Amino acid sequence: MGAITGAGISAESGIRPYRGKGGIYDDPSEGEATVEAVSAPTLYSDPDRTWRAIAAIARGAAGARPNAAHEALVAIENAVERFALLTQNVDGLHQAAGSKAIIDIHGSVDATICMRCDTRAPLDVASIATLERAPRCAQCSIGVLRPDVVLFGEMLPMDKVARMQREFHENVPDVVIIAGTSALFPYIAEPLLVARKAGKLTIEVNLEPTDVTVIAEFSFRERAGAVLPAIAEAINLR
Ligand SMILES: [Zn+2]
Repeated sequence: MGAITGAGISAESGIRPYRGKGGIYDDPSEGEATVEAVSAPTLYSDPDRTWRAIAAIARGAAGARPNAAHEALVAIENAVERFALLTQNVDGLHQAAGSKAIIDIHGSVDATICMRCDTRAPLDVASIATLERAPRCAQCSIGVLRPDVVLFGEMLPMDKVARMQREFHENVPDVVIIAGTSALFPYIAEPLLVARKAGKLTIEVNLEPTDVTVIAEFSFRERAGAVLPAIAEAINLR
């Protein structure tokens, strides 16, 4: 079984989405500024600005806990033979819920990489909210740390792309669920298309119709927190 998730799942935990209704990018007063701040050129020219924008996003996510949708995906992972979770979310809520087979294709805010010596280090998510300057590397004490997330204008990490190919394209899951995402990126929509073409079961869960609504065999206009627990329960009853 494969699952693909996006900001809609985190929104049910109170984390403000980037796109869609009430999204950060939709707000003309902060949307463009945020996109520019969390882009690769800004990271290299003014890392303090990138980290201030990330701090603002972190403040919006403070205290967020995994919800019924995150927990249902853990239950599904524990119940099936093979499971892969492709997520666009960088908030770490899937990890906090206990999901293991995660491909966090856009990275995660709980890790940093030194831009000088490449040392990877964990970052306490709670401490991000108060950052006003880019943190420094504890290893070389000179380098500026970057978040281990894919910024605007950056390539996806090759190792995670390879895992995504392996789990969703080469070994197509029997069931693919896509939940809480408008699936704007082709690499997010493609696994569903591949599964549908291969005659596998495809399910979409999203409050509004999306580009993949016509691809999915079943499409629910519902909260992921309502539908995913029902799917998890059905699997356990089989
Ligand atoms: Zn360093």
